Order: sequence, then structure tokens, then C-alpha cells
Amino acid sequence: MTPAAGFAGRKVALFGLGGSGLSTARALMAGGALVSAWDDGEASRARALAQNIPLEDLRGADWLTFAALILAPGVPLTHPAPHWTVEKAQAAGVEIIGDVELFCRERARLAPDAAFVAITGSNGKSTTTALIAHILREAGHDVQLGGNIGTPILDLAPPARGRVHVIECSSFQIDLTPSLRPSVGVLLNVTPDHIDRHGTLEHYAAVKERLVTGADHVVLGVDDDHCRAMLRRLLGAGKPVTPISQAPTDLLGCTHYNAKGLHRAIALGAGRSLIEPLASLEGARALRGAHNGQNAAAAFSACEALGVDHGAICAGFASFPGLPHRMEEIARLGPVLFVNDSKATNADAAEKALLSYDDIFWIIGGKSKEGGIESLRPLFPKVRKAYLIGAASDDFAATLADAVAHEPCVTLDLAIERAARDAVACPAREPVVLLSPACASYDQFANFEMRGNAFRDLVAALVARQSQQ
Ligand code: ADP
Repeated sequence: MTPAAGFAGRKVALFGLGGSGLSTARALMAGGALVSAWDDGEASRARALAQNIPLEDLRGADWLTFAALILAPGVPLTHPAPHWTVEKAQAAGVEIIGDVELFCRERARLAPDAAFVAITGSNGKSTTTALIAHILREAGHDVQLGGNIGTPILDLAPPARGRVHVIECSSFQIDLTPSLRPSVGVLLNVTPDHIDRHGTLEHYAAVKERLVTGADHVVLGVDDDHCRAMLRRLLGAGKPVTPISQAPTDLLGCTHYNAKGLHRAIALGAGRSLIEPLASLEGARALRGAHNGQNAAAAFSACEALGVDHGAICAGFASFPGLPHRMEEIARLGPVLFVNDSKATNADAAEKALLSYDDIFWIIGGKSKEGGIESLRPLFPKVRKAYLIGAASDDFAATLADAVAHEPCVTLDLAIERAARDAVACPAREPVVLLSPACASYDQFANFEMRGNAFRDLVAALVARQSQQ
């Protein structure tokens, strides 16, 4: 744990008692603060009480006595409307911050030079964060991984010389972290996401930009307009920046991906440049596709900025196991590959998987998002057949119509049986049974993790059965 000592002996209000809220309360108490915690949910309050976290109904509290309001990142700060605790804090002139800010203040106090990599972006945050942590660990560093992925930041060991914190930050966390100054700040991309919580895309992009303007060294995706505008501003301000791209570019110094691996354009003088190969990704099973090429480019550049040598970075790519439920290669049956991409809860995410494989036997469906799968039409030729499950079946059948052979299966078990049967009979070099549903899971599963776990178990059982025959 990292005790948060900045409020020792002072009262702080804390709202939102999910996983990170409980962790924050414990860290504040360990640092000597007098915590008044609250949550609108009774079950959350009961969990806090069981951990001896003092509760106080903040509606009736005297806000002038608080030194700060510590807000959980899920609680609206600005949009669609400020939460009532935010209004009370603002009226009393009380600062509003989150757990990452408490960590940053401890780092400034304990070990301001300790390496701290902060990662954000609309897509690819978790993969990039896990990849950077993996490379650094394999290279022998003392790594603490967490934030918006896995362990809440204040549950990690404190900042210290020789230790590196690799922290995924959501835009909500950045919004609550005024002194975010990582040694390496990574911003992958800005695409419309969570606009309901940030008002406009411009505001959302501005929040994300704060992570990189405060960084000592910036790693910045340059594949969208918002990020390209940021690149101009950062370079104008003299900030050290490594641009990254998921497509070939002759932008000098840019770490970019092409079908085989990572490259960079380097200046030779007299206006001439050379594309230098940096790392092959051919053996990196968990980093297929151009989107993972961008994540790898970001990880390469971040680790390079921390002084990791290129050989160690390449070794980390090859041994990276990937994250569960994101194009996770879970089993083989002869030449047939089974891929769990249950995290693909919308068409944009499913597009990445369709782009990454050929000869696809596609399990799709669930609770459909607006627009359905129409945007995936250009990729339909890669699909040998689709197997429809869940509430979206009829809609998707109408979209696939004559363009893709499809079969209603209702449930996942039946879809797997039929997709495996057809894939095994397919003469292609590597037929792929792909669960990439382009839908939320809520009609049949509690969440995408449960859906992915069910897929994994059912596939394991099928492979075991077939191997015995
Ligand atoms: P996040 O943590 O930002 O949600 P993840 O690493 O968990 O991102 O990846 C979630 C999904 O987003 C993946 O399954 C893939 O479809 C897509 N994705 C991953 N990396 C990228 C990227 N660099 N650009 C665009 N989409 C991506």
C-alpha cells in the first residue's frame, strides 16, 4: 500500500466506495487522515464498515471542515451534471481530487525521480499498460502495475528509487489529478468515447492532453486529428515527444508499424532519411493486427525512453501473453485456431479482430449497440460463416443477408459446436473460430468476462472430446 500522508490530522470527505474507493480510504487512514466516507449504495457502505472505514452521511456534513473531497472516478465531476458532492465541495471551496492525485503527491514527497509511466487513450490502454509492465519486468525492473487496470493505484507499493509504476489512467482519473506529471506519458488515440461524461469530444481530448503536457517525455499516437494537433502544440513547447503510428510514415522519429513489425524514419542529413527497422512482431502471437502494432509502438517508445535496450524490448514482445478476452488465442484443434475476443462489445472492437484474421468462423451477437454491424460490411468477405447468438440475432441476420452465410444458434454452446464443425472441414491453412460478438453480453451473461470464460470452458471441453475420438 502507498499511505497517503498529505492530509494527516485533517478531515477529508470521500465519496464512492467501490474497489478503488475502499483502497483510497485505507491509504488515507494509514496516512493519518480523518476520513468521512459515503456512498449512495447500502451494500457499498456495509463493505466499508466491515473494513472499519468511518462513514458519514455527506449530505448533512459541515463541508467547511473538510480539507478535500476525494471522488471515485465513476462519479460525475462535470457531465452529464456535477454530482451533489461536487456541488457541495465547490460551494465550500474544498478541492476535489482522486486516488491518482494522492499517489502523485506521495511520489513528489517520497521519490520525485522514481520512474512513473502513465498510459491513456480511447482504445488500447490496458494492452499497452500490461505490455509495458511485462517488458520492464522481463528486463529485471521492479514494476508496480495498476490504476484503471487491476490493482487500484494506492494498493501498490509506494514510489521508490529503482521502482517503476506503470499506471493506466482513464479520462475520469486524469480529470481528478491536477498534478499528473509522469516521467513518461503515453496517449494512444482520441476517438469518440464517454462523451456523455465529458460533454464534448473537445473537452474529452483536452482532459486526455493533460496527461502528456505534464510528462517529462511524451509518447503520442498521431493517427487522429486531435492527437496530431497535440503533437504540434507539444513540439512547439519544446517537449520531448516520440510520435507513434499504426501505419507506415516518414514522419521523422516516429515509431510506426507495418505488416511485419516496428520501424522508424531517421534523418541522414541533407534532407535525406532512412527507415530503420526496430523490432519484428512476427513471433509475437499476442500482438496481431495494426491496432496491436500501435500498442507495441507505444510500449517500445516508452521502454526506450526509460533506457531499456532494444533487445530486451523485442524479447518482451515475443513472450507477452496478452490479456484475457482480447483476441486471446485459447486453443487449437488441428489447424483450427480458437480466439476469445469477448471484450469486443461493439463493432469498432470487432473490426480489429476481423482485420487480424482470415477464414473466420464468426460467433457474433448479444445485446446490440446502435448501428449494429453495418460498418463491418467491407470485412464480410473475410468471414466464411457467422453463428448468431442472443438478442441481436434477427437484426444481424438481416444485415448479413446474402453477403455472409449465417446460422441462428441462440446460445454460445451451440454456436461453438457448429463453428468448430465447419472450421474443421475447411481446407484453409488456419481456419479461425472467433468469438468477437460486437455486442454487450448482458442479455445472456453478467459481463464480457463471464462470456469469455464460458467460451474458454466450452472450447476446452470440445477440444478434449475431439482429441479422445
Ligand atoms: P482499453 O483498456 O482502452 O479499453 P484494451 O487494451 O482493453 O483497451 O483493448 C480493448 C479493445 O480495443 C481490443 O479488444 C481491440 O478491439 C481494441 N484496441 C486495442 N488496442 C487498440 C488501438 N491501439 N487502437 C484501436 N483499437 C484498439
